[in-house]
Amino acid sequence: MALSSDTLEKLRGFLGAANVLTSKEDLIAYSFDGTAALTQMPGCVVFATTSRQVGDVLRLANEQRIPVVTRGSGTGLSGGSLPSPDCIVLCTVRMNRILEVDRANLTVLVEPGVTTLQVADAATAVGLFYPPDPGSMKISTIGGNVAENSGGLRGLKYGITRNYVMGLEVVLPDGEVLWTGNKCVKDVAGYSLRDLFIGSEGTLGVITQVLLKLIPKPAAKKTMVATYSAMDAAAQTVSDIIAAQIIPCTLEFLDRTTIHCVEDYAKVGLPLDCEALLLMETDGHPAAVEDEAAKMVELAKKNGAMEVRIAKDDDEATKLAAARRSAFSALARVAPTTILEDATVPRSELARMIRFVEAVAKKHRLRIGTFGHMGDGNLHPTFLTDERNHEEMKRVHEAFKEIFDEAIRLGGTITGEHGVGVAKKDFLPKFAGAAQMRVMRELRRALDPRGILNPGKMFD
Ligand SMILES: Cc1cc2nc3c(=O)[nH]c(=O)nc-3n(C[C@H](O)[C@H](O)[C@H](O)COP(=O)(O)OP(=O)(O)OC[C@H]3O[C@@H](n4cnc5c(N)ncnc54)[C@H](O)[C@@H]3O)c2cc1C
Repeated sequence: MALSSDTLEKLRGFLGAANVLTSKEDLIAYSFDGTAALTQMPGCVVFATTSRQVGDVLRLANEQRIPVVTRGSGTGLSGGSLPSPDCIVLCTVRMNRILEVDRANLTVLVEPGVTTLQVADAATAVGLFYPPDPGSMKISTIGGNVAENSGGLRGLKYGITRNYVMGLEVVLPDGEVLWTGNKCVKDVAGYSLRDLFIGSEGTLGVITQVLLKLIPKPAAKKTMVATYSAMDAAAQTVSDIIAAQIIPCTLEFLDRTTIHCVEDYAKVGLPLDCEALLLMETDGHPAAVEDEAAKMVELAKKNGAMEVRIAKDDDEATKLAAARRSAFSALARVAPTTILEDATVPRSELARMIRFVEAVAKKHRLRIGTFGHMGDGNLHPTFLTDERNHEEMKRVHEAFKEIFDEAIRLGGTITGEHGVGVAKKDFLPKFAGAAQMRVMRELRRALDPRGILNPGKMFD
C-alpha cells in the first residue's frame, strides 16, 4: 500500500520538506543498490541528520507498520539496501560528521554517513591508521561497513570492520536509543550487543554513531607483484607464505580475464602474458619489511613465478593497489550485467576451489573473471552476463548454487564479506543449520517484533 499523505506530512514535519523525496524520478535513483538485476521502487526516501530524527521516523513507522530500509551509499553487493515495496528508505549520508578524534585513547567517533575514506583520512591526519579498506572505500559509508561487517584488502593482517568497532549508538525499531561499548580496551559487562549489531545488515536497528579504534601507522611498506603461468602456482605461493608464518598486509590475486580487463581500464602496465597475478604487500618495522619481502620473493620464485616486480616507490605501489581495487569496475565494463560473488574457503582449499569455479563456468558455458582476497580464502567469482538473457541467467544461478554448495562442502562460507541480503538468503539455512536459524529468527523478533526493519533480508 502506498504511503498516505498523512504519513508523508508527518515525515516532512520531522525532517523538513527538503529531506523527503517522493517524485518518481528521485525514487528511481534509490530503487537499487550495487547488486545486479535487483530493483524495487520505495514509497519515499528520507534523509535524517540526527539520531533523534531517526528515532522519530522509526517510531512512526513502527506505529504504522511501515517497512524501513536503512541505506548508506547503496554500494552493497547482496541487495541489503534494496527497497521493500512502498517502504521508507532511510538514508544516512547526511549524518556525515566526524565528532571526535581522541589521540589519548586512539579512537575516532563518527556519524554513520561518513565515508570509509574520510575515516582513514582523519586517522592519517593525526599520524594514526584505520586499516579496513573495502574496494568501495571512497564512497561506502561507515554505517554500511558496520552493518555488513565489511572486509578489505588489508584484512589478512589487520582484520575487518568488527575488529575496529569499540562502540555503537543504535536506534531500535521502536525509536529507543541504545549505546553499546565504550573506549575501554576491556569490557565484559553483559552480552556484547555491539557484536550483535555488527553485520546485522539493517535488520536489528539503525546505527547512528560509531566509535572506532585507530592504531599506529606502520613505518614502512613494500609492494610486489608476481605473475604465474598457472593458477595453482599462485595459490601454492599463498599457502607457502602463510606456512612460513609471514602475515602480509595484502595478498590479492587476479585471474587472466580480470588482469586483461583491469589493464584495459587502468593502464598500469600489468603483464598480460600470464594466467594469474598476485599482489603482495608487507608493512611494519623497516627491517621486518625487508626480511619478509625477501622471503616472499623467494617463495614466489620457488613456485615458478614468471616475474616478480617490486614497486620502486610509493607512487608505483599506490598504482598497483589501485589496479586491484578497480577489478570490479573493470570487469563491469565488458558485459551488460556483472554478478560478483564472494565464496570463501579455508586457505588450504583455495586451489581446489579455484579449479572448481573454472570447471563450473566451463560446464555452464559462462564467462567468468575471478579475483579476490587470496590470503583470506575469499574469492570473487564474477559472472559477465546479461540479465535480459533469461536462459543464460538460469545457467548463472545454477553455477552459483554449485559454487556455494562446494564452498560449504570444503568447510567455507557463502559470503566472506558482502553479506546475505536478498542475494544469498536461499543459501543461509543450508549453511547455518536449524539451530542457528532459530536463534537468529528469535533475536530478530525480540528486537523488532513488528518486523519493520529491512523485511525479507537475510531470512523471511
Ligand atoms: C566496487 C565495489 C567494491 C567493493 N569492495 C568491497 C570490499 O572490498 N569488501 C567488502 O566487504 N565489501 C565491498 N563492497 C560492498 C559494499 O561496498 C560494502 O558492503 C559496504 O560496506 C556498503 O556500504 P554502503 O554505505 O554502500 O551501504 P549500503 O549498500 O547502503 O547498505 C548495506 C547494508 O547495510 C545496511 N545499513 C547501511 N547503513 C546502515 C546504518 N547506519 N544502520 C544500519 N544498517 C545500515 C543497509 O540496510 C544494507 O543492509 C564493494 C562494493 C563495490 C560496488
